[in-house]
Amino acid sequence: MRSFGSETRVPTLSAVLDLIRERSGVSRVELAEATGLTQATMTHAVRKLIALGFVHEVGTAASGRGTPRRLLALRPEACRMIGVQFDRFAAVGVVVDLAGRVMVQRAFPAPGERPPDEVVPEFAGHVRSMLESAGVAPSEVLGIGLATYGPQDRDEGVLLTPQPSPEWRGYPLAATLSEATGLPVAVENDATAAGIGVHTLGSASSSFAVVFMSGGIGSGLILDGFPYRGVTSNGLELGHISVDAAGARCSCGNWGCLDTVAGPMAVVEQARRDRELTARLGLGGDRLADFKAVGRAAAAGDAAAAALIESSMRTMGVATVTLVNLFDVGRVVLAGNAFTDAGAIYRDGLQQILNEAVFMRHVHSVRVDLADDVSRAAAVGAAIVVLRNLLESPNLGDRAAVR
Ligand SMILES: [Zn+2]
Repeated sequence: MRSFGSETRVPTLSAVLDLIRERSGVSRVELAEATGLTQATMTHAVRKLIALGFVHEVGTAASGRGTPRRLLALRPEACRMIGVQFDRFAAVGVVVDLAGRVMVQRAFPAPGERPPDEVVPEFAGHVRSMLESAGVAPSEVLGIGLATYGPQDRDEGVLLTPQPSPEWRGYPLAATLSEATGLPVAVENDATAAGIGVHTLGSASSSFAVVFMSGGIGSGLILDGFPYRGVTSNGLELGHISVDAAGARCSCGNWGCLDTVAGPMAVVEQARRDRELTARLGLGGDRLADFKAVGRAAAAGDAAAAALIESSMRTMGVATVTLVNLFDVGRVVLAGNAFTDAGAIYRDGLQQILNEAVFMRHVHSVRVDLADDVSRAAAVGAAIVVLRNLLESPNLGDRAAVR
């Protein structure tokens, strides 16, 4: 793990909390050794986490010099966070505890092409209903994380795109949901959120890239447990790197973008041109549902469906080689609800392509994994973003325990 000296600007409290989550019953000395932080800095960080009620002492262990070390553990029940991931075709919400464990999950009706002033109050209703199901009072909730597509203004909590309808561009998304629920709302890129979700439920020191696929394709990068966001949190738009310089112009302005060539909507368009396949699979409804139907058919051995998924996978493979070559990661994780049915085909195919084509393959291998829960990872990560925003806030010193 990278050393967390102050000059690295790694958010100390989040890193320490992640380690305590991973190694329950850890001592301050072990935390200092694992992070490279000084004892004094670690003592200060742990004191803050205890004051917030997030961490408590759970006993002692004998140490070599005779002074017993006090052991620390997370208090998962200390607070809850809500995460919602949505795009035009899908919306999923979760309530998680401080350990990132899902208490309640819900699929919400997708926004479709409805305007935000219809969809956002509906989200607020689902949030209230999830809290009721979890038996959680709003006073126990830190806030709501909203994971969605870009481009977005993360600080202002608004989308900068007229997708799925013109009313969404510049709509005060975070502010409106916050007003309707009485909870703080944070916005995050969906692929980045998926990376944070995978990280939270896995190793605290992990570094990996995420390829995220829902209505479209995106990607994210986690380095030692923290996301690389770029200058405006709109980085790593894998779906809008060109895989065909002579290809069609994309709505983003680039030519032959991965998403327009091989994304779920492109696959569905190709599938619908095949009348036999369309009839066999009953295509023609919701386009993400149609993509999943093609994926299921491919997994079940339908040759026409398999050819479409194979073609999409190969093009995604070319783009993923680029992603790995740029950032030299040792692991790529696939997440997003478009991987629910054909995820194994993408995983195995991408693994083979990376094995054969990555620049540094003679130096180290690159493993491709499916996220444990492809359809929820981004929602879980969005919920954790709320916690991280609090821990990384400059005003944290003024804050007492959550309840
Ligand atoms: Zn594009």
